[in-house]
Amino acid sequence: MHTEVIKAYGTTAATTPLDQLSINRREPTPHDVVIDILFCGVCHSDLHTARNEWHGTIYPCVPGHEIVGKVVRVGDHVKKFKVGDQVGVGCLVDSCQECQYCKEDLEQFCEKGATQTYNSSDKHLGGQTYGGYSQKVVVNEGFVVHIPENLDLAASSPLLCAGITTYSPLRHWKVGPGKKVGVVGIGGLGHMGIKIAKAMGAHVVAFTTSESKFEEAKRLGADEVVLSKDAAQMRAFRGKLHFILDCVSAEHDVNAYLSLLRVDGSLALVGAPEFPLPVAAFSLIGGRKSFAGSAIGGLAETQEMLDFCGEHNITADIEMINMQQINEAYDRLLKNDVRYRFVIDMASLKH
Ligand SMILES: [Zn+2]
Ligand SMILES: [Zn+2]
Repeated sequence: MHTEVIKAYGTTAATTPLDQLSINRREPTPHDVVIDILFCGVCHSDLHTARNEWHGTIYPCVPGHEIVGKVVRVGDHVKKFKVGDQVGVGCLVDSCQECQYCKEDLEQFCEKGATQTYNSSDKHLGGQTYGGYSQKVVVNEGFVVHIPENLDLAASSPLLCAGITTYSPLRHWKVGPGKKVGVVGIGGLGHMGIKIAKAMGAHVVAFTTSESKFEEAKRLGADEVVLSKDAAQMRAFRGKLHFILDCVSAEHDVNAYLSLLRVDGSLALVGAPEFPLPVAAFSLIGGRKSFAGSAIGGLAETQEMLDFCGEHNITADIEMINMQQINEAYDRLLKNDVRYRFVIDMASLKH
């Protein structure tokens, strides 16, 4: 198969900083779209994978699954896209297309394992898939989405992972007018969760460990803000919330939040703490409550989320960096020193 050699940024070992390297992209098949990458968001998963913190990283590793850019070429059978379109690619680039979940537009749960945008087996070229820290990507049109023209392209890139990760559970648990929703943690995920839940019409209560984020949370759309380490403030919301979106990826007391749910309420984890979180049976059985989790969304839902964000003018709050600043950005990410997502200006890779 013909390939094109392009510039990328990645790492050859868990302890090695990211640096420039060359990778191959396939010649587009009749169903492929070739995308010139303009911006790529920096997700915490990128750092976990580059440093092999979840194990199973195949090197060289080129992270990046919040990809936005312009279509520069399309295969003969491509119907949904044309050259010049503003498009995005999120966490998935392929799936089996045959299992029950793929048929129900839940490709993220493909029974055969969906192909992740990076660090998955590449069905076309062998080896592993390479992500968005690169000049171009070639993707089956079924895994490419349109970015609404009214949205700022750079600030839209985090919608492809942080956006869909928060939108999907808010939709699934039917957040909307008349519902009181808690969003725990105001970071990359949480700041999107607040904006989207508010746009869905819910009454949004943000929970933070830091008083300095009160004004921020309100600016993002929270109706109320609670200092989670203040027991009296927490008690005031006991039994009041229909749903809680838990965006915290560090250790925290889930039982304290479960007590804030109404009967039949659910708490869904979208953060991924490293260690198991203890849940007391009495936190659940007293109010027939559910402790749940959610991961990204299918392609149809990702497009629905982007259309929703276009309608409501929602993008992420970002800090733009050059590709060469990625190692420094990772160090700052570990200290939560970003409001709220780094986005790489991919033009910096070309010069
Ligand atoms: Zn991600
Ligand atoms: Zn499948």
